[in-house]
Amino acid sequence: MRKFIITGIQGSGKGTQAKLLAEDLELEHLSVGDIFRWNVQHRTKLGAQVKRIIAAGHLVDDDIVESIIRDRLASHDWNYGFIIDGFPRNAAQAEFFLESYDIDGVINLHLPDEEVQRRVLARRLCGQCGLDYNLIAHRPQREGTCDVCGGGLVSRADDNAEALAVRLGDYHAQTRPLIEIFQRKEYVATIDATRSVDEVQMAIRDYFSLPARLTV
Ligand SMILES: [Zn+2]
Repeated sequence: MRKFIITGIQGSGKGTQAKLLAEDLELEHLSVGDIFRWNVQHRTKLGAQVKRIIAAGHLVDDDIVESIIRDRLASHDWNYGFIIDGFPRNAAQAEFFLESYDIDGVINLHLPDEEVQRRVLARRLCGQCGLDYNLIAHRPQREGTCDVCGGGLVSRADDNAEALAVRLGDYHAQTRPLIEIFQRKEYVATIDATRSVDEVQMAIRDYFSLPARLTV
């Protein structure tokens, strides 16, 4: 059984890297962000709460995140393992986690703040069908227009310089002490995330001596 935690600021490609690992190592991918998005889309009470907090540029309370992850971990029969994205959030959660689960490692995707800004502020979203675009990596054929449905492209409400600065500050304040806890146990693999998706994936697998990715 393989058990990983993945950390990295928005725009570091964390979700993509976690999915690639989860897919062919058959890990359960527990993403706090995905769970929140599902709740927002399905208009649950949790979703409404999350929407308000995120629109103000803040992170969702540690307690909410902890109860969601505890439920998911408790309800699963772990045959192959998991990769957790978005948890733990604080020192107490990290200590609890280390005591309860014998983890293989923490994948820390490192991206300088300037690069985070460049990537995040280039993101666009089709207002009609919801498809994601990126003015650096995935440009639409016609400026400002969705390739698929012709809808107008917009930025997410929280993808502006001010909200991003708040998130960067929150992220560093929150993550630094956690990384220190994990470093003390020598779990942390800090990976340079400025490289391509394939190169980053390869670096993660090299570090933990994981099998190379199956190609179709
Ligand atoms: Zn569209």
